[in-house]
Amino acid sequence: MIIKTKKDEFQNYLTDASNYKGDADSVYIPKNETELIELLKKFNEEKIKVTISGNGTGLTGARVPESGIVISTEKLNKILELNKEEKFVIVQPAVILSDLQSYVEEKNLFYPPDPTERNCFVGSTVATNSSGARTFKYGPTRNYVLALKVILTNGETIYIERGKQKAVGYFASLETQNKKNISFEIPKFEMPETKNASGYYCKENMDLIDLFIGSEGTLGIITEIKFKLIDYNENILSAIAFFENENDAFNFSQEARKLSFDNTSKIDARGLEFFDHRTLNYLRNDYSSIPNNTCAIWFEQEIENNEDEIIDCWMKLILKHNSNPETVWLAVDKKEQEKFKDFRHAIAWKVNEIVAQRNLRKVGTDIAIPDEHFVVFYKWMKNLVEENKIDYVVYGHIGNNHPHLNMIPKNENEFHLCQKLYFEICKEAVKYKGTVSAEHGIGKTKRDYLLMMYGEHVIKEMAKLKLVFDPNKILNIGNIFDEKYLEQL
Ligand SMILES: Cc1cc2nc3c(=O)[nH]c(=O)nc-3n(C[C@H](O)[C@H](O)[C@H](O)COP(=O)(O)OP(=O)(O)OC[C@H]3O[C@@H](n4cnc5c(N)ncnc54)[C@H](O)[C@@H]3O)c2cc1C
Repeated sequence: MIIKTKKDEFQNYLTDASNYKGDADSVYIPKNETELIELLKKFNEEKIKVTISGNGTGLTGARVPESGIVISTEKLNKILELNKEEKFVIVQPAVILSDLQSYVEEKNLFYPPDPTERNCFVGSTVATNSSGARTFKYGPTRNYVLALKVILTNGETIYIERGKQKAVGYFASLETQNKKNISFEIPKFEMPETKNASGYYCKENMDLIDLFIGSEGTLGIITEIKFKLIDYNENILSAIAFFENENDAFNFSQEARKLSFDNTSKIDARGLEFFDHRTLNYLRNDYSSIPNNTCAIWFEQEIENNEDEIIDCWMKLILKHNSNPETVWLAVDKKEQEKFKDFRHAIAWKVNEIVAQRNLRKVGTDIAIPDEHFVVFYKWMKNLVEENKIDYVVYGHIGNNHPHLNMIPKNENEFHLCQKLYFEICKEAVKYKGTVSAEHGIGKTKRDYLLMMYGEHVIKEMAKLKLVFDPNKILNIGNIFDEKYLEQL
C-alpha cells in the first residue's frame, strides 16, 4: 500500500477536471481489494471521512475530498476475464476506458459507452453512469453493467447481478456475502424520461443493480464489474456536415434521428453531435479548413457492404437541409475517424484549459430536454447568455437533445453571474421535464440544481437511503446532496 501524507505529494488528488478544489489529510493507494477492505473498515470504525478517487477527469468535483482521507482505486486495474462466446468482460475499476475498448476490439468485440474523455477509469463511468456520442444508439453505461461487486463501509461485500435482485414495489432487500440482510425502501419520485445522471436511480420494482450505477460512490466502493459486450463492426462511416444556420442543423439532426429509429430507412446513426459556430471559431486555428460562419453536425454510422448507398442517403439529407455536400468532411478509414474524435475532444479540453488558466471554473450545462421542447429551450438559453454578454460555446450530444452550453467567464464577477444564469437555465429545464445532469453526475458542484429539480423531500429520502449503506456518514460525503441532509436524519 502506498500512503501519501505530504500535501505537495498529493495535490493532484485534491481537484478534478472541473477545477473544483478540496482538502484531505492523506491519500491511500491500496494494492489490492483486501487492503482496500481493511482500510475502509478502519476508517469506518474511526468515523473518518473517505473520498474515492478515480482518474480525476470528472467535471463535478465528485472525487474531490472536502476533508478526511482519499482512497485511490488506481492499483485495482486488471482485466480479469473475457468470455468471447457469452460476450462479457470482468474488470477491476481502475482499468482505463480506452484500454478496455482496445482490448475487447482486438477480440472482435465492442464496448459501446464512450464518454468523450476516454482516459477515465471504468469504475468511475459506472459510478457516474457516463455516456457519450454513441449513447444515441446504444444507451448509457448502465445498459452494459451485468454485475457489480461493491464493498460497503463496514467491509461487507455485496455481489449484485442484473436480473437477480429486484425491489418488490418500493421495498428492497440485499444480502451481503456474509449473509447479512440489508432491507430498505426505494425513494418514490419520478425520474425524467430524458438521458439522465441526476441522483439515485429509483423506480418501482427496479433491478437493484441500477441503484449502485450512478450513485457517485456514496453507497460503496465498486471493486469488480462485469460488462456486457456486443459484436464489433469496424466499418464506420464518420462525417462532419457544415450548416450556415442552426435551424438547418437542428432540422437535419431531428430528421436523422427519426430515420435512425425507422427500420425501413438506411440511415442508422450511432452518434449525432453538434458544434455551434463559436465552437468552430475556437477550433479554427488548429483546423483551418472549417468553413467560415458555420455550425456543424458530426455523425457516425456502422456500415456493412453498402457504403455508397448509405453515403448517398446522408448526402441527400444534407442537401435537403441546405448544407453543401462538397464541404462535408468524410472519414471511412480508422485513422481519419480518430482525427474526428480528436476534433470533438479538443474543444472540451480547450474550454477547461482557458478557464483553469484564469483560475476559474467553466460553467457548463449538462442538461437534456424532451424532444418536443428542445429547440424552444435552446434558443431561450442562448438568448439569456448573450443578453448578459457572457462568452460561451455550445457543443455535444444533439442526438439526445443534450448539447453542453459552456459559459467561459473572464473574471470572478463574470463567474458569479454565470452561476446565476446557470441556476435560471436549470430552472427552465426542469419546467420542461428535463434533467439537470444527463451524464456528468451531480458531484459537489450541482447539488443545488438537483435540490431544485426534485425538491427537499426527495433529497431527504435519498439521504435516508445512503444512511442504510453508510450509517457512520463517511463515504463520498457531499456528493449528490449536502452533508446537512445526513445530519437531519
Ligand atoms: C474533456 C472531458 C470530456 C468529458 N466528456 C464526457 C462525456 O462525454 N460523457 C460523460 O459521461 N462524462 C464526460 N466527462 C466526465 C468524466 O470523464 C466522466 O465522468 C468519467 O466517468 C470520470 O472518470 P474518472 O476516472 O476520471 O473519475 P473521477 O473524476 O476520479 O471520479 C468520478 C466519480 O466516481 C467515483 N468513483 C470512482 N471510482 C469508484 C469506485 N471504484 N467505486 C465507487 N465510486 C467510484 C468518484 O468517487 C467520483 O464520485 C468528460 C470529462 C472531460 C475532462
